[in-house]
Order: sequence, then C-alpha cells, then structure tokens
Amino acid sequence: MLIDLHVHTVRGSSDSSLKTDELVEEAARTGLDGVCLTEHRGPWDRHELAALQERHPGLLLLNAMEVETSFGHLTVFGLDRFVGGIHDPVTLRRIADGQGAFVVLAHPFRYFLSLPERNLLYRGQFPVPAVIEEIAQHPAFALVDAIEVNNGGTSPTENAVALEVARYLGKPTVGGSDAHSTHGLGQSVTAFDDRITGTDDFLAALHASRFHAATRAPDGVLTHALGG
Ligand SMILES: [Zn+2]
Ligand SMILES: [Zn+2]
Repeated sequence: MLIDLHVHTVRGSSDSSLKTDELVEEAARTGLDGVCLTEHRGPWDRHELAALQERHPGLLLLNAMEVETSFGHLTVFGLDRFVGGIHDPVTLRRIADGQGAFVVLAHPFRYFLSLPERNLLYRGQFPVPAVIEEIAQHPAFALVDAIEVNNGGTSPTENAVALEVARYLGKPTVGGSDAHSTHGLGQSVTAFDDRITGTDDFLAALHASRFHAATRAPDGVLTHALGG
C-alpha cells in the first residue's frame, strides 16, 4: 500500500491552499491508497475526519500533525490532539511514548546544502558537519522512530543526505509529498508491506517497521524503493 505520510490542507495549515476534495481527487488520479493529514495546527477533529472518510471510502485518511521543535519539524502519528510543551522535542518524545505514538524527523536536510544557515537541524551551528559519521551524531536522530528521506519539498540531493544518514544509523525511512497544493502529490510515498485499513493497523505497521520510503515517476507507474 502506498501512503503519503506528509500532506497539508487548507483546513489545518494556514500555508496550504489544498482543499480536501482536490486532495482526494488527485490522490485517486495518482494511485495513492492513503494520505496522512500532518497539519500544522494539530490533528483534525476526530468526528470531522470520520465524516470526511465516510464521504471518500476509496482513500484512507489518517490523522497526524507536524510540530515545530528545536530539532526542526517532527511529524507525529498517534497523538489525537495538540498537547502543551511538545515544541520541546524531549517532551514530545515522552508524551508520544505515553500514548504509543510514532515520531518522524521531517525533511532534516532541507537547505542543508543550498542555504545551510536556514537548515532547522543545525540552526546557528556553523560550519555544519560535512561527513555522515558526524552528521548522524545529531541527537534528533536518536530521538525519532524514523527519518523522512523523500520529502517532496526538499531537493533530491538534500533528501539523499537523509537517506545516507538513515542507512548509516539503520533507521526506518518514510516518504511524503509535504504537499500544500495538488503539486507533487503521488510521487513521494511510503510503501507498507501490509494492508492498512485504519489508525490501529497503521500504528502497528509503523511500530513494526513494516514500511519503507519510495519514490514514484510523475506518471505514477514506476515505484522505486529507497533503503531503510
Ligand atoms: Zn515541515
Ligand atoms: Zn510539512
């Protein structure tokens, strides 16, 4: 099953223009089986998401959120609401553990090669490390359950650094479009080994590492697995 683990809609992210009906239509057109709504404002209201899911039974819709922390952006799966203090990554980890949630380090190397002063992981830390052994020492990698190595809003060379770090550390890998419009939907995905029918299956598959990042050609026909 191919699931996009990183999507923003106009409903929960002020910087997104993606309407839910456009999302559902484009996801179907590009052959996605499911999408995670990783909204900046926190998870969708459970009942509202259930109503949306009922209207669109062909696309699995999963609740999540993206949190800004001092370790950059973390996408969180399995927390049903925004909790105070989670901008601190250690607090977020503790709360996630208490609720069986799964935490992913999103686009860790965005700007790392092009505009390193804008990279969120090494904010204010110059020069940024140059070799994988050193890069992989950043405490963010030990804190998370998986690393996003295919982010649709990050350059291929910067995504490649994330993949190299994930391989070096033996960390599971995920992919997601980070779509804020229909642009890029369907190409950055996570391939799951098992059929996922809802949140419980999804979290179980995440915790069992039964998935890996994948990238697809724009026509959606070819899917290439990325390590991890
Ligand atoms: Zn982000
Ligand atoms: Zn995002």
